[in-house]
Amino acid sequence: MKALEQKILNEGKVLPGNILKVGSFLNHQLDVAFLMEMGEEIASLFASDGVSKILTIEASGIAIAVAAAAKMNVPVVFAKKNKTSNIPDDVYASEVKSFTHGTTYKVVVSKEFLNKGDRVLIVDDFLANGNALIGLKEITHLSGAEAVGAAIAIEKGFQGGGDALRNQGFRVESLAIVDEMSDTSIKFR
Ligand code: 5GP
Repeated sequence: MKALEQKILNEGKVLPGNILKVGSFLNHQLDVAFLMEMGEEIASLFASDGVSKILTIEASGIAIAVAAAAKMNVPVVFAKKNKTSNIPDDVYASEVKSFTHGTTYKVVVSKEFLNKGDRVLIVDDFLANGNALIGLKEITHLSGAEAVGAAIAIEKGFQGGGDALRNQGFRVESLAIVDEMSDTSIKFR
């Protein structure tokens, strides 16, 4: 999506540790009109997939997930980061290694909100090594629902998570794929 690439070039900042900061429109302040454009793009990519639910992860995936869901007329479920060590048995749980913090945490989704027969589109703001996506895929699988694919706003292609999943036959659509970045330049696939 050219408009997203242009917005990343205009407003993005590359931080040490291969972090791309887009706080002006996606991760802190939200540019709602632009989010809705991204949501429309996601809705058109998955228009013929019979999506019944969007699954994302708190907190930064929620905005883009809501934008896509508004266009697709489906609910959003967001996986919650589990705060305690015990996992209740009314949730599906998976472990995720955090890209930004380096730690591992558990994410949970209530069994009430994902069901066999659901066709789940996984949506997130960023894709790096793919751990968040793998965790959400696992939760979908545990529920008996089907993951039809993933829609990501910004994929950092050089970190390999997206291509690894594509090579396994999983559909991953990213609105912008950064293949190289430094503090002076950002190159897209
Ligand atoms: P992964 O699990 O694919 O390694 O990383 C994806 C998750 O880490 C996303 O949910 C996102 O919140 C966070 N993340 C990874 N890379 C970046 C980045 O460059 N910038 C921001 N803002 N978040 C990132």
